[in-house]
Amino acid sequence: MSVSLVLLIINDMSRIRISSFILAATLSIASFTSCNGGDRHEHSDTEVAGAYSCPMDCEDGKTYSEADTCPVCGMDLTVVE
Ligand SMILES: [Zn+2]
Repeated sequence: MSVSLVLLIINDMSRIRISSFILAATLSIASFTSCNGGDRHEHSDTEVAGAYSCPMDCEDGKTYSEADTCPVCGMDLTVVE
């Protein structure tokens, strides 16, 4: 009886281990997939967009990651090569 109880516990533990392994594998696959997709998206974004700055250089070389207008003079920011 005690042997079967131990076997039951071992069986339970291995089941937990397997399910947590499956969970971890699923999570890593999911994060890998989303990371891959996000990375590709970010890459094309940064390659196309680059950094933006005011054409009048109002803020002494300060750049922005998104196209906007200069907070000082209000001109459209231009892409910095
Ligand atoms: Zn400006």
